[in-house]
Amino acid sequence: MNYDIDKIRSWFPVLKNDVYNKPLIYLDSAASAQKPVQVLMKEEELHNQYYGNIHRGAHFMADKATNEYEGVREKIRAFVNAATIREIIFTKGTTESINLVASSFCERYVGAGDEIIVSEMEHHANIVPWQLAAERKGAKIVKLPFNDSGILEIELLVDLINENTKLIAVAHVSNVLGTINPVKEIIDIAHKSNVPVLVDGAQAAPHVKIDVQDIDADFYVFSAHKMYGPNGVGVLFGKEKWLNEMPPYQGGGEMISEVSFEGTTFNELPYKFEAGTPHITGVIAFGAAIDLMNEIGLDNMAAWEHSLLEYATEKLKEIDGLRIYGEAPRKSGVISFNIEGVHSYDLAMLLDKMGIALRTGHLCADTVMAHYNIPGCVRISFGMYNTKAEIDAFIVALNRVRMMF
Ligand code: PMP
Repeated sequence: MNYDIDKIRSWFPVLKNDVYNKPLIYLDSAASAQKPVQVLMKEEELHNQYYGNIHRGAHFMADKATNEYEGVREKIRAFVNAATIREIIFTKGTTESINLVASSFCERYVGAGDEIIVSEMEHHANIVPWQLAAERKGAKIVKLPFNDSGILEIELLVDLINENTKLIAVAHVSNVLGTINPVKEIIDIAHKSNVPVLVDGAQAAPHVKIDVQDIDADFYVFSAHKMYGPNGVGVLFGKEKWLNEMPPYQGGGEMISEVSFEGTTFNELPYKFEAGTPHITGVIAFGAAIDLMNEIGLDNMAAWEHSLLEYATEKLKEIDGLRIYGEAPRKSGVISFNIEGVHSYDLAMLLDKMGIALRTGHLCADTVMAHYNIPGCVRISFGMYNTKAEIDAFIVALNRVRMMF
């Protein structure tokens, strides 16, 4: 494989840093990925050359910023293969994208006695907004369970779906288990009963090729900051049919067509769902991250990260008393684990002092923790810039910490 890791690492200045006088080993890209110079330079270019508010200015800079911003919308459309840019809404992240759908979709289509199926392996961001909406509407959340290997029991779906089911919410990739869920199959089952599906792609978009038309997703959501782009920017893909019928999420400038005290008419898609001044800088710089991922090739990145996943899994399995949560055959670059007799916080704190950045705690996935009956765990996750040498150093550090207990 032609994967120039040295060149890739050179694009991420932060990786050259020391922390606590140790070389930084960043194994927390699933929480947020580091930013390459291409993204940082794009932010600077915008502010040094043509910053202005978009869609409303009558001057050169506002026009240029608008063109750049809308250019990124087209890049995202192509990235997920949506049919039209009207289906691409910018939000401030996956969380806001899901809240938008939970609020607007449920307002329009969900009533008392209705049901929303949510998988057991969801991030809190794909549970709580549905609970809030269900509570408002007198609807009910129904759980789609996973088994101990971290595989969704999709054979149960046929029985879980009934005439009251209004939507299914499921992650493309679990942020704890790393499982790549068969979303196309899930959507196919759901659509046989005319039930739409929202796919949480927060952990998939940086690693898995997305084709919303091929999988036939009704909604697909993700965050720029996990894709080497800025924080505070996210995307909601929604089928035009739904977005047209759903009421606006927030009111304000830009989402209207005409306003009077007698009433307001709304702007066309996608602007109907983009009230107020958006994160102009973030969206424009996100475009540079998309360009970079396209240049390297998502398949190349995925293959590289998969080799890291296999290598690290093998090494971790050699450690006595270590349990990995999530052993599905199709996994993304995420490994969550515990070591018997060692608290996950102690582990993470000591590893941090050795320069290793990872995630610990409930990982915003209490239902996954409850499944395994654990309070928390440790998670390592890979980005395009990680190496086997970093995994070796991590394993040495982990063994040192284990010896301390
Ligand atoms: N869903 C999943 C699967 C995630 O991993 C995350 C982030 N950890 C989110 C949703 C929420 O993303 P954000 O905080 O960017 O809104």
